[in-house]
Amino acid sequence: MSALKTLGIGAIVALIGIMIYLWGHSDGRSGKPPGLADVSYAAPKEWSPTKASPSHEVYYPGTEDLKPDEMRVIACGSGMPMPRLKQAAACFLIELGNGDKFIFDMGTGSMARLYALGIPLDYLDKVFLTHLHADHMGDLPAFFIYGPQNNRSVPLRIWGPGGGGTRPEWGTKAAMDSMLDMWAWMTGTLVGTIDTRSMNLEVTEYDWSKINGVIYEDNGVVIRSIPAVHFEQSASFILEWNGLKLAFSGDTLPNKWWIEHTQGVDLSIHESIFMPDTAVTKWKFSGQEALNAVTTIHANPAFFGKVMAMTRPKHAVAYHFQNDFDTLPATIRAVEQVYDGPVDYAQDFMVWNLTKDGVRTRIAVPNPEYYPTPPLQEKQIMTGGDRYQTPDWVLDGFPDEMDAVARKIYDDFNKEHGTEYQFQLKK
Ligand SMILES: [Zn+2]
Ligand SMILES: [Zn+2]
Repeated sequence: MSALKTLGIGAIVALIGIMIYLWGHSDGRSGKPPGLADVSYAAPKEWSPTKASPSHEVYYPGTEDLKPDEMRVIACGSGMPMPRLKQAAACFLIELGNGDKFIFDMGTGSMARLYALGIPLDYLDKVFLTHLHADHMGDLPAFFIYGPQNNRSVPLRIWGPGGGGTRPEWGTKAAMDSMLDMWAWMTGTLVGTIDTRSMNLEVTEYDWSKINGVIYEDNGVVIRSIPAVHFEQSASFILEWNGLKLAFSGDTLPNKWWIEHTQGVDLSIHESIFMPDTAVTKWKFSGQEALNAVTTIHANPAFFGKVMAMTRPKHAVAYHFQNDFDTLPATIRAVEQVYDGPVDYAQDFMVWNLTKDGVRTRIAVPNPEYYPTPPLQEKQIMTGGDRYQTPDWVLDGFPDEMDAVARKIYDDFNKEHGTEYQFQLKK
């Protein structure tokens, strides 16, 4: 009997609700349920069936002006030492409204992501390395050596930790000298064939042990470093420009320098490696290895969350883990137990637009078919005595029958372009 009564009362309440809704419509009101009167779901009038959409949920690289007071950050590598199609290893591009662009770390797999943004390489000439693990600099050798083919016409500038720890030969200068030696054949054989101005490196070693020391200052941009707790010779960066402040951890355990110097930054990008269970089930680590990795070398999600709770950035970014459907929930749970502020769990091509008004997060949709962007200077091929020449006996391997084919290619090209190039294999 009482159940029937409840049902009856329920039906009456529902009926009143419907009447209120209809009443709202009948007299021209929006028909919103009572209590939500200030919330509107109607499309704003800028929307049109034929015009460009007034708001983009994604970022199409190369289609938006960067405003003079704006900073844009793009994750070109959000993952781990094992690069994957979905996530390259650590790499973040920072673009400023004053025209400066900085690359913080260039981990394995990140080069193709950088290229996919369609930015002329002459603009991407400043690379800052937090440390020399391959998941933070593994794509640097290829990015450097393919400057000429991809139209960089200026030297590449590298900032990296100096030696000065256990062994001086562990410094960035020594590593870059070895890299140049590694490419000796490649650079030597290209001389006189293409524009090789980009095959120059300018290496600056910063003192990784300095606390909040300035390692770069130009054009209104200041970059400082603080030591990271990650073996030795590892650092984190703090970039300041135009009243905006960005912190980037590289790899580190939670550390007191980060907590002191990144309080309230606009964007705090900090490593948050996998959960120990993931290390065991997915990476096949032993239990001890897993716990060592996430509590003595890297910051696990709980460490990450606690660091963010202690520094309260305007916006936090967790990276350096495989961000998958089955790993993300446990990561979020661990972070949320200690931190309740805004946080993004980075994926490749996640993009953040920073202004004084706040941070907007989207995903970039790059063109997977980009060709090299143009150089900003006329091409210059070095001529003269230094030109490399392949030995004649090797060139003699070119069959005589191909000569006519080659000449036809030249004839066709000259006809098309009004030029007079001549085919000549040997000097
Ligand atoms: Zn590392
Ligand atoms: Zn790493």
